Amino acid sequence: MTLRRSIVAMLLATAALPAAAQGVDPAHLAAMKKLMASKAFATARASLETDYDRIVKDIITLTEIEAPPFKEAVRARAYLEMLRAEGLTDLEIDAEGNAMGLRKGTGGGPLLVVAAHLDTVFPAGTNVKVRREGNRLHAPGVGDDTCSLPVLLAFLRAMKAANITTKSDILFVGDVGEEGPGDLRGMKYLFTKGKYKDRIGQFISFEPGQARVTNAGVGSKRYKITFKGPGGHSLGAFGLVNPAYALGAAMVEFGKMQVPAKPRTVFNVGIVEGGTSVNSIPFEMAMTVDMRSEGVAELKAEEDYLLALIPKAVAWENAVRSTKEGAITADIKMIGDRPVGATPIAADIVQTAGAAVIAGGGEASFGASSTDSNLPMSLGVPAITLGSGFDTDRSHSLDESLLLDKPATVKHMAMGLATVLSLAGATMK
Ligand SMILES: [Zn+2]
Repeated sequence: MTLRRSIVAMLLATAALPAAAQGVDPAHLAAMKKLMASKAFATARASLETDYDRIVKDIITLTEIEAPPFKEAVRARAYLEMLRAEGLTDLEIDAEGNAMGLRKGTGGGPLLVVAAHLDTVFPAGTNVKVRREGNRLHAPGVGDDTCSLPVLLAFLRAMKAANITTKSDILFVGDVGEEGPGDLRGMKYLFTKGKYKDRIGQFISFEPGQARVTNAGVGSKRYKITFKGPGGHSLGAFGLVNPAYALGAAMVEFGKMQVPAKPRTVFNVGIVEGGTSVNSIPFEMAMTVDMRSEGVAELKAEEDYLLALIPKAVAWENAVRSTKEGAITADIKMIGDRPVGATPIAADIVQTAGAAVIAGGGEASFGASSTDSNLPMSLGVPAITLGSGFDTDRSHSLDESLLLDKPATVKHMAMGLATVLSLAGATMK
């Protein structure tokens, strides 16, 4: 970077953009400033501050209860007890494993769901003991998304401390299955099968981070494709069809796919596996692929491209080598399906969150990600994902860590709480 460019970058980073330039309308900003200037909000914010050490303690407790995909039950039970201790009603772990409880409103507002996910990406047996070094906590999963679960509890205590009532019922949820293999199973249950499915009017999920408003969900389709053949001795059976060549042909074609930069569309072969020995024609070879896009049509186009090339690769291998002991077949299995969705920037929920960031002293930025919100967004339920206030590093790695910076975290937690209060129709005295 040249000196001149670095100065421009510095100016851009420090100059506060006017709210309108950040995509937030004056009415939402004025309403949010009023909410944040209330005595009740000052009391609630003070509660978040007093609560900080307790939040950190709860993060450590929950992090040390491992929660691999499909094995969140022990952590779910622990979290349910924490929700119970905050005085929620209608406590339950639903049939999919989501832990939840209701904070009753006075009536007249749409049900608001406030969620954080229980699951981590780490397999059972991973050492999840939290290590504190200086101003950092280290442990797999300490950030994503364990750090957000206690923040929801702190919101409840803050509302209680300030005697805040809301029009809307608020359902607090620690949900399962947000990470890869879980395929949003917690959300799919909550929105299509659970008892609240027809009542949910607004949805916020919290993830690690600060001041970021996720209003669009990158969709994904994931497949495992297994090529099968008769197998045989590499010397004695030479000339028989080989699933490795069919897989190779398919993979090369897949790699040639053309995708647009906008809407952002990507693809990957993540796992290739199969074979048993160097001197055997394998009887099975598989590849696992991931395709993602912010566009519905673009994601569909990627999927169509993949599904069309598989039979061609199979037919090619069956044509160029002998099928006398059996032909190559392909077993196509969908292992992931996250819908694309977006909540318009102009939507009340997005405007409210953006206003809270600006009124709270930050800069609003909107963007796309892949989170629990994808599911409600795809169903047309107004949904966003917000930073819960903790800054984290090396998420999804064994080196994952969480930064302990009380002023910054309290500041950003307050933005999240203000968003929840506004959307729930809180009475702020
Ligand atoms: Zn997460």
